[in-house]
Amino acid sequence: DGAAESRVFEADVAKLLQMMVHSVYSDKDVFLRELISNAADACERLRYEAISDPTLLADETRPQICITIDAERRQLTVEDNGIGMSRDEMVDALGTIARSGTKAFIEQAQAAESGDGVTLIGQFGVGFYSAFMVADQVDVISRRADAKEAWRWSSDGKGTFTVTPVDESEAPARGTRVTLHLTEDATGYTDRLKLEQMIREQSGHVPVPIALVEKPGAAPTEIADGAALWTKPRGEINASEYADFYRSVAGQFDEPALTVHFRAEGRQEFTALLFVPQNRPFDLFEPDKKQQLKLYVRRVFITDDADLLPRYLRFVRGVVDSADLPLNISREMIQESPILAAIKKSITGRILSELEKLADKDAEAYGKIWEAFGPMFKEGIYDAADRRDTILGLSRFKTTAGSLRSLKDYVGALKENQTSIYYLAGQDAARLEASPHLEGFRARGVEVLLLSDPVDSFWVTSGPSFEGKPFKSVTQGAADLAAISRLDASPEPSQDVSAGVAEFLAFLKTTLADLVSDVRSSERLTDSPVCLVASESGYDRQLEKILVGVGQ
Ligand code: ADP
Ligand code: MG
Repeated sequence: DGAAESRVFEADVAKLLQMMVHSVYSDKDVFLRELISNAADACERLRYEAISDPTLLADETRPQICITIDAERRQLTVEDNGIGMSRDEMVDALGTIARSGTKAFIEQAQAAESGDGVTLIGQFGVGFYSAFMVADQVDVISRRADAKEAWRWSSDGKGTFTVTPVDESEAPARGTRVTLHLTEDATGYTDRLKLEQMIREQSGHVPVPIALVEKPGAAPTEIADGAALWTKPRGEINASEYADFYRSVAGQFDEPALTVHFRAEGRQEFTALLFVPQNRPFDLFEPDKKQQLKLYVRRVFITDDADLLPRYLRFVRGVVDSADLPLNISREMIQESPILAAIKKSITGRILSELEKLADKDAEAYGKIWEAFGPMFKEGIYDAADRRDTILGLSRFKTTAGSLRSLKDYVGALKENQTSIYYLAGQDAARLEASPHLEGFRARGVEVLLLSDPVDSFWVTSGPSFEGKPFKSVTQGAADLAAISRLDASPEPSQDVSAGVAEFLAFLKTTLADLVSDVRSSERLTDSPVCLVASESGYDRQLEKILVGVGQ
């Protein structure tokens, strides 16, 4: 309606702002990365929308992010000529919390002992609101690409914001200008050299050029050229450039644990630059989480929502740039495209083969990846029948013989007459090791996988085998131990049950009646007198417990 209006922030935003304003987090530099990333997103969205409506670009076709220092007024401005925001978009985007990541941040910060979440900021990246770590007032002036009018959003971060129409002369021709009124202790951010370094390090590879203006009216200096890193040949990119790019594309703060950069030619032509993070991104178990690969078509960003990877690889981040998809394809149509399916198949295969290579060449580095992402990866054993053998081959286990054991190691250490891969599943890794079920196996030097991820009970009962050896639970029936000889030379306990034992078994069966289906003497125990087992044909004990837990 054109009038100024004051509004109260949504409760979650207020909480978040409270944390930002009072933050003593030392690495406040991240605010700039967040603002630049929003500016770049806005330029990319414009580029995409202009495919169907070229008039949106008017006579300003080159995307640009410009950062201006005004030391005298202690201000910093981040301006872009991207898509801009209408009044309603502003109220919505800057008054509520849309990002699932930020919600997760608030939850974890509140659960954290200190309650202020300071130490968490570095791991999350909290978006636009991080500006309030360094500013006590933030003004956002924006004009949408298809609109004439412009609006100012303004807030001191203390619970309310205002939205006011602004005069055309005050607004950028198109896009958004964010002005930070820096707090006294953030005066350092008016230092040109410091800013230049921050931009290069945090945002040097955003796909939009970035210029710095050292004081109002001065000429802009280009700091980053906006060249898409993935289009350069591998040999021309060094590790720190890859790491910088990874951090800006993935919103992560760590180093990539594995970088996979390749160009596919032939039936499908595309370039992929993919990363496996070192640390677990925080949102891996959110069911409605978007994919984390950005899809480009000939350098135009299309979507980060395309189905480019199987679920079990959802920790992989990066970009895919296709030369074959039509640019004007709708996001919905993309999903149906056979080209997309072919790309998905190809990058999945490539990631798996690169992981295999790493596992061969650097077991320690691979082990770290496994420890971070193994539980997700194992979902692929039952989700992805076509990749099952590969994923089993890449899997690592804690066993009675050590940690990070592969199935190859396991099969290489089979005992004479051993025909199965034995496992024990349960929730608590420490308790598994002490289980009486293991006694008979230990006595024979038979290795047992100790499975304590919740996902284990599912894949292991989905009928997998490795190199022809089925998986078998040690809790299930008589575990073929009689055929395997004990390590110590002591004579095998006699096979036929003595009269006394038979009598005792009969007594137990009558006493326990319907509570058990059978009572048997067994080879599996050495020290403990008794243990519970599941029947050979039924569910494994651990799966039984889970099913009982969910009311099955
Ligand atoms: P995210 O970028 O993850 O969506 P942010 O908190 O960084 O979360 O930004 C919130 C929203 O504000 C963005 O999704 C976008 O809609 C809007 N926004 C922020 N900065 C800009 C900008 N420079 N141009 C256009 N829209 C912007
Ligand atoms: Mg953002």
